[in-house]
Amino acid sequence: MGFFSNLFGKQTCCLCGAECGPMSRDKIKNKEYVCSDCKKKCSSFIRVSEMDKETVQGHIDFMEKREKIYQQILVNSKAQSYFNMKKDQGIVFYDEHGFLVVIDKKHGVTKLNHEVIRYDEVESYELYTEMNKPTEQGKPETFKEDGVIIKLFGNKNSLSGDSKNKGAHVYPYNTRDIKICLRTSEKQTQYADNVVQHFDFIFGVNDNRSALFSFGMNKQEKRELQAQVDMAKLMGGAIKAAVKGESAEGNDKLMEQMEKTQASTAAAETSGLSAYSAKADAAEQQVG
Ligand SMILES: [Zn+2]
Repeated sequence: MGFFSNLFGKQTCCLCGAECGPMSRDKIKNKEYVCSDCKKKCSSFIRVSEMDKETVQGHIDFMEKREKIYQQILVNSKAQSYFNMKKDQGIVFYDEHGFLVVIDKKHGVTKLNHEVIRYDEVESYELYTEMNKPTEQGKPETFKEDGVIIKLFGNKNSLSGDSKNKGAHVYPYNTRDIKICLRTSEKQTQYADNVVQHFDFIFGVNDNRSALFSFGMNKQEKRELQAQVDMAKLMGGAIKAAVKGESAEGNDKLMEQMEKTQASTAAAETSGLSAYSAKADAAEQQVG
């Protein structure tokens, strides 16, 4: 087994045992290989070269679970999608549960599992615009494309105390930036703004802003008030129970109020994101 036969000869996929030639495999850690069929089961945004065999297998299991969430829950939910038909790229928001990233097939790879992402796994999102350099000196730049770039909380180190408080959840693999091109010509519909606004809504970005001349409470103030009201009710109930002794029925009521209080407190602390986290947790439990 010389250098060339290692490079060009057939190798065995360490996951499924298939023989794979140099064009249909990826090298992973410890000089092992995965075949293109196994690679298709992975996310488009991870790098298998950084993973060992166990990590790739764990990742495929993870993606299969997300596929189940897609098939069993998301496809039946209300959806809002923003697509660039030309590039076959886009994003679909399933308001309650999370979103789906559809990415191009530029490497000729059709992924087997859908890229389902939880809202609380998003670290940042932003608009991007790329311009073509002018063909001649003195001519203006021309529009090339625009879209959004999404970054995920990729490892535990990236979760600082502050993001933990805001209800962040770790996407369990390091990912490269998720770049979704939504427009390749200024004549196409401008979706990137809609996508950013959708994320702003989910993350409560404008919730602490009251409309000018409005004396009402904004969304975040309402959340905080609700948490206080629920806490007061809970304390009242608990004191009553302590003084009088409580029936089984009364205890059930107290437990119910406690759950309510926990939910409204979490909503106030995370600017509403906790409701989406709870939905995503429930979906994960449902598919097993
Ligand atoms: Zn394989």
